[in-house]
Amino acid sequence: ANTVTEFDTIAAIATPPGEGAISIVRLSGDDAVTLADQVFKGKDLTKVSSHTINYGHFIDPKTREIIDEVMVSVLRAPKTFTREDTVEINCHGGIVPTNKILQVLLTNGARLAEPGEFTKRAFLHGRIDLAQAESVMDLIRAKTDRSMKAALNQLDGELSQLIRNLRQEILDVLAQVEVNIDYPEYDDVEEMTSKLLREKALDVCAKIEQLLVTARQGKILREGLATALVGRPNVGKSSLLNHLLHEDKAIVTDIAGTTRDVIEEYVNVLGVPLKLVDTAGIRETDDRVEKIGVERSRQALDRSDLVILLLNASEPLTTEDIELLQLTQDKKRIIVLNKMDLEPKLDLNELYQYVDKAEVLKTSVLKNEGIRELEEHIATLFYGGIENSQTTVLVTNARHIALLEQAKAALEAVLTGLEQELPVDLVQIDMTRAWELLGEITGDSYQDELLDQLFSQFCLGK
Ligand code: GDP
Ligand code: ZN
Repeated sequence: ANTVTEFDTIAAIATPPGEGAISIVRLSGDDAVTLADQVFKGKDLTKVSSHTINYGHFIDPKTREIIDEVMVSVLRAPKTFTREDTVEINCHGGIVPTNKILQVLLTNGARLAEPGEFTKRAFLHGRIDLAQAESVMDLIRAKTDRSMKAALNQLDGELSQLIRNLRQEILDVLAQVEVNIDYPEYDDVEEMTSKLLREKALDVCAKIEQLLVTARQGKILREGLATALVGRPNVGKSSLLNHLLHEDKAIVTDIAGTTRDVIEEYVNVLGVPLKLVDTAGIRETDDRVEKIGVERSRQALDRSDLVILLLNASEPLTTEDIELLQLTQDKKRIIVLNKMDLEPKLDLNELYQYVDKAEVLKTSVLKNEGIRELEEHIATLFYGGIENSQTTVLVTNARHIALLEQAKAALEAVLTGLEQELPVDLVQIDMTRAWELLGEITGDSYQDELLDQLFSQFCLGK
């Protein structure tokens, strides 16, 4: 592990690899500005005001050769992301000039940043807490605007604030318990102390539970709402998938059973990221290839949060359709009656024996009819859930979820301990454990190893 005391000047390319319009090379550390000044021709960067952008040329100080036309931001500590002097060199995109600039910086005193080192420094300087650092990572990976918003809220420190409040509550009660033990004013001090511990454990437990409820929605925002697209061959699954994707990725053909493999695609439906799975349709078959598809379809069904079941309105309901209707009846589902543009042959009264009218939407994927309604229906199903949740904080990070679950378990151990009338100091241990576990979320009780492991997951330059 690196020592916390040493903050040399680090450099990295902050923009994603590849050809972009501009690239940014970032420098952070005590010598960031003097180093930048050595490689800059235009004005004296050591004299410019903080938080200014300066036009000039990037040069190799040894040869005085001009490498690129650049805009250089000079940001002095402490009002920077890392809380160190920071310089951002905006150069023309393209791998060659960007790499050359980085290389010149490295040969003139900077060190190549480790992945996540900028964010790690921000943490070590107290600029952000751990939950916020992780949300930087989530932001980079956010799939839709909505996910972005959840990550931003976390960056604002909403989750951290909530966790700190919970820790404070636990700490208060632990202090009170100490006082009770050391200065027993009443005869029934033991009973009082137990009551205090029980009430607080129940209270904090309930609050953690609320946060865990948001975790499911958070997971959906991060990973996508696992959506299984099922229906017998040729009902229009691939066509619908293509429509939602607005591009031709899945193979559409007239031959039944063409979609052999399960395809996973992400699609943004009015802010809800769906992880769509186009399946070969669930049916018994002798065809080996198709069988793999069928088996996977069943698995996809098991793993899905939402099922979109397609039926062909231009054909009577088949036994396969009915099988699928029965197989999905306990799932959150939408029944899509497709091919409405053709002469209707499906008996609606028969269909309504198996499904609720409200579950059924009518579409013609071919004519692009009813798709918007389908999208709105999906969004309502999802956001209906989110709006009902108690807090605006969404717990989206796997490490946070695991720690919340452990903290909850520790509090449950407190409750069991009290029920079994264990001595108070034993119960106190579990209570303290809950306090520590919550502290790990915000990094208020962090360990070096955890830090290194966390920050190494970042992209370079962040
Ligand atoms: P899948 O096997 O369920 O994936 O079905 P496909 O998406 O491959 O579609 C099978 C055939 O039905 C293709 O020829 C599509 O163009 C056609 N199709 C899809 N949706 C509609 C629709 O709404 N109306 C009509 N008339 N044809 C459709
Ligand atoms: Zn298909």
